[in-house]
Amino acid sequence: MSLVVVVVYPELLGTYGDGGNGVVLWRRARWRGIRSELLMASSDQPLPDGDVYCLGGGEDGPQVQAAAALRSDGRLQGAADEGAVVLAVCAGYQIIGTSFPGADGEQHPGVGLLDVATVKGQGPRAVGEVLAGPFDPGLPFLTGFENHSGVTTVGPGASPLAAVQVGSGNGVGPGHLTEGAVSGRVMGTYLHGPVLARNPALADLLLDWGLKGAAERRGQELPTPLAVLDDAEEEALRAERLASGSPGRRRSRRRHRTAPAGDDLRGVP
Ligand code: GLN
Repeated sequence: MSLVVVVVYPELLGTYGDGGNGVVLWRRARWRGIRSELLMASSDQPLPDGDVYCLGGGEDGPQVQAAAALRSDGRLQGAADEGAVVLAVCAGYQIIGTSFPGADGEQHPGVGLLDVATVKGQGPRAVGEVLAGPFDPGLPFLTGFENHSGVTTVGPGASPLAAVQVGSGNGVGPGHLTEGAVSGRVMGTYLHGPVLARNPALADLLLDWGLKGAAERRGQELPTPLAVLDDAEEEALRAERLASGSPGRRRSRRRHRTAPAGDDLRGVP
C-alpha cells in the first residue's frame, strides 16, 4: 500500500495553514507503516498525480488565480474522475464549486468538482470557532475555525457535510446552517485548524478513501481497515476545543492543560 498526498498551490492557498491537512494525512499513513509521499505542488508546474489532493484557504485575488490555473491544468478534475480524494478548505472549497466571488466583485467560474455555488455574503464576515454535527453517523462532532465572507449554496449534486451548531458554515440565516459539502470522494469545508489536525476521525475517513482509490487505480487488493492510533493528544485538543466552542462556553477564558509539542510523538519517522 502507498499513498501520494498533494498540497495544491501552497503559495496561493496557504494563508491559513491548511497545508497541515496534507501533513496530517501523510503522517497518519506513515504512523501505520503505510508508504506515503507528500508533494507541495506549485501553480507554475503541472499538477502531479496523487491519491489525495488538499486545497487550502486563501485571499480573494490568489483564489481567482488558483481556480484559473486548475481549470487550465485539468489534472485535478481528471484525478477526481479517477477516484482520487479532494479535500478543499474555504477558498479551496469555493473554487472547486461552480462559481465564486473574486476581489473584483465579479463571479468567477470554479473547477466544477462539487455542486456548490458561492456568493459574497451581505452580512459581516464569518469569523470564529465552528462546531458542526456531521450527517455521516460514523463521524463525531467537527471543530474548526472559519474566516470568510462567502456564502455557499449546496446544490442537488452534493450533500452538506454537517449541521452547524456554532458558527456560520455555508451561510447565515434559517435553513442555511449547514457546513461544507461532499460528493463521492470530494469534500469541501469552511473549517480551518487545520481541520484534519482537529478532527482525526475525519482524517482517517479521507485516508481510507485515498487508500481505496489508490488500490482501485493500481489494480491492487483493497486495503485492510486502518490500524487504531493513540490519539490521546488529538483528543485532548478536541475536548478543549469542543468545550470552548460550545454555545454556552464561547466567552469562557478557562486555562487548559496543553499537550506537549513534538514531531515524533509515536516514535515512528
Ligand atoms: N476569500 C474567501 C472568502 O472570504 C475565502 C477566505 C478563506 O479562504 N479563508 O469567502
